[in-house]
Amino acid sequence: MEWLKWEDQERVRARIKVIQEDGAAAEEMGIGTPKPAVPKVEHAKAGSGKCFTCKEKIPKGELRIGYKASNYHPQCFQTLNVYQGGADEIGGFEDLIDGEKQALEKLFGKAAEKRPAKEENGEGPPKKKEKTETVEDDPETLKKLKKQSDTLWAVREKFQENLDSHEMEELLLANGRYKTKGGPDKMLDQLIDCAVFGVPAKCTKCENGTLFFSTSAHAYQCMGNISEYTRCMHSTRKPDRVPFRIPSKMKKSNEFLASYQIPQLTERVYSAAMLKEVPLEKAKPGPSLTRTVGATSEKSFLSSKSGGRQKMLVKNGCTVDPAAEKAEKL
Ligand SMILES: [Zn+2]
Ligand SMILES: [Zn+2]
Repeated sequence: MEWLKWEDQERVRARIKVIQEDGAAAEEMGIGTPKPAVPKVEHAKAGSGKCFTCKEKIPKGELRIGYKASNYHPQCFQTLNVYQGGADEIGGFEDLIDGEKQALEKLFGKAAEKRPAKEENGEGPPKKKEKTETVEDDPETLKKLKKQSDTLWAVREKFQENLDSHEMEELLLANGRYKTKGGPDKMLDQLIDCAVFGVPAKCTKCENGTLFFSTSAHAYQCMGNISEYTRCMHSTRKPDRVPFRIPSKMKKSNEFLASYQIPQLTERVYSAAMLKEVPLEKAKPGPSLTRTVGATSEKSFLSSKSGGRQKMLVKNGCTVDPAAEKAEKL
């Protein structure tokens, strides 16, 4: 969600609220258990329809979930977190081919596994579903969140206009950081975080790990290692920061870098709703598929000097995935 423009964040927030309140209202009317809205899955017919959450087109023939008059990518719908049922309870599930069914089961689980065992065996009444608690941000926090979002976007646009990917990478290296998996977008995310808030200081737990912001965990996660085989599990929402530096050599070759005053924010503000979704205990760096390679490369980055470092980047430049971003669009 952090990387959506502010008005889009508002739109998605409003949507989640409406969906949650619909459920709560029906429950309050006391008509037994309300029948929750059932999402439907089908293959996109035209390829021109857009996903409500990420606003990207849903390509023709791909799976599309329809829910309360909006369409979503299955992944985007899952991150909205408004549907509690299993994949096999989604309308149209039976018409899918096996591979598609499995993909949905991965996202939403199976109905039988979700239902408490008791209810399944018919012992005792079905447990009353806990009412969804809507957490809202106070106006002060919302104001800060808006300012933060607008600032990050403004800097992003400037950087995008005035820096090429080599310069972005050079800036990262100059600040003791490195490019991670995920392409130019991820590199830019990282760079802007450092430029606006300051560069996250090295990890305090393993003493040399690099902290990366994860948009799905809403936290900075350490990519370092405690020992050769043990990965550091440190995560924090308020890392210490060191000033972002731009090498004078780069200022000489790029006029923008010489003159642009990067707007500064003291620390990252988090939305209460997002934090409720991922408490810090759960924001630990998860097992990442690329982790094994990444583990060795973080070490190499730290010990190698610029020449060797350059080589490492070519070889291992895309090996670390700090975030395992599953909610990256929301
Ligand atoms: Zn989407
Ligand atoms: Zn660490």
